Amino acid sequence: MTSVNPRPLSEILAAMTSKSDTDTTLVTKAYQFSEDAHKEQKRYSGDMYFTHPAEVGFLLAEAGMDSRAIAAGLLHDTIEDAGIKPKDIEEQFGADVLSLVEGVTKLGTLRYRGLERHTESLRKLFAATAKDIRVLIIKLMDRLHNARTLEHVPKVEKRTRIAQETLEIYAPIADRLGMSVAKQELEDAAFPYAYPKEYEKTRTLLKERKNENEDRLEKVEKDLKRELGDVGIRTFRTEARIKGIYSLYLKLERRDWDIDKIYDILALRVIFPSVADCYSALGIIHAHWRPVPGKIKDYIAFPKPNGYQSIHTTVYTGDGSALEMQLRTEAQHREALYGIASHLTYKEIQEGTQESKRGGLDWMRQFFPLLRKTDTPETPIENATKEKVPEWLQELAHAHHATQESEEYLDTLKSDFFSHRVFVFTPRGDVIDLPIAATPIDFAYAVHSDLGNKMSGARVNGKMVSLETALRNGDMVEIITKPSAKPSRKWHDIAKTNMAKKHIRATLAAEEAAARGGLAAGRKKN
Ligand code: MN
Repeated sequence: MTSVNPRPLSEILAAMTSKSDTDTTLVTKAYQFSEDAHKEQKRYSGDMYFTHPAEVGFLLAEAGMDSRAIAAGLLHDTIEDAGIKPKDIEEQFGADVLSLVEGVTKLGTLRYRGLERHTESLRKLFAATAKDIRVLIIKLMDRLHNARTLEHVPKVEKRTRIAQETLEIYAPIADRLGMSVAKQELEDAAFPYAYPKEYEKTRTLLKERKNENEDRLEKVEKDLKRELGDVGIRTFRTEARIKGIYSLYLKLERRDWDIDKIYDILALRVIFPSVADCYSALGIIHAHWRPVPGKIKDYIAFPKPNGYQSIHTTVYTGDGSALEMQLRTEAQHREALYGIASHLTYKEIQEGTQESKRGGLDWMRQFFPLLRKTDTPETPIENATKEKVPEWLQELAHAHHATQESEEYLDTLKSDFFSHRVFVFTPRGDVIDLPIAATPIDFAYAVHSDLGNKMSGARVNGKMVSLETALRNGDMVEIITKPSAKPSRKWHDIAKTNMAKKHIRATLAAEEAAARGGLAAGRKKN
């Protein structure tokens, strides 16, 4: 096994958007601190543990995140895995970096152990728990590097669990944030370990088509350059887009595994300086190649909910086959790749000032009030550049507008998301999903019937509570047990879930039977 060296600091600094002294110094300090903190640790691969945080820092720099997020990425495992005290991080890097590191640490301990798998709910729970959007992005990059190195995880079950979680939770979050590069990479890294058979089947199919696809793409690209050049459109660049293997698999499932029905395995991206060029080019393209009916999608006029903008069209290429073309501007291209993270740099390109880097974050703060620092002046939402704002962010912004107070806002957000369920945590960070008004009794039985049967009391958020207490979203519930404890009739009346009631009834019935049996046995003896 060849060992991997940590990504050098120089490459992280080079990938950063800001080259200011303050930003460079912060990231350099975090790099050295983390390297030192993790120096005794190794990864499953045998590599230095520090290869992991260093890579996370690099991915964040590449995605255009600010220096504090990059520093937090470098430090994200120091509290949990290297025993560094939160106080030390705060002293050396400030309260903002500490809150990012703690946010990532908290997300890392969440595991889902509901009665059923409500993955959509878990995604939302993640989003709501991460009060700062940067925490989610750091967590995504953390998971991305872990997914890329899954081959080294020795236990099959653990590898499969991480891979499935990656597909079901992390990739959809990346998608929701419009981070398509991260989404595709997460999916393609996890797919072989989550569903090995399906992966092999898809890969074999794809391999058969690879060369013919690439030849066709090359020919179309040449024709396109000539056609556009003939009418004077010369400032543009092209890029081949290969569909992710997991997303191809999902599509094959929907198309009865007929790969000939899938036209976008390979697509041609054409990137222009302006939106007007995109529409002009569309006309030229359709005049030269016949478009496939129903395949023209104008996501520039009608952006996708995550903010994605491009014109898609699929054209017959004259050899009995078809090819998808995606027309977009540079700014749309960058946003399509990096999503929300791209706004940090995008704004800077537009304004060309050093200050606007921070402006990028302020821009996000308008829509994520919880990102907002007290010293940031209020900017009316109406003044914001709405057309660049992903729709779902706008929804959040409007929700905030109606409620104002951050605390209240988060509650509204949470109650909307979780109107029928409460999500509570075990002391280990597992998420237990229960109906509204559920009690510690329901919680205990949801974790395990043995825990319910031996329960003598409960603590919620560290405080002793009565067993009738209705649990609320985000409560941390700890069940206290005693070997002599046992369920009662009263518990049966208090419990809200059928699961708890069923177990209590069964235990009570068994006890009665045992008592009768014991009595009977006793009588016989006499
Ligand atoms: Mn990590």
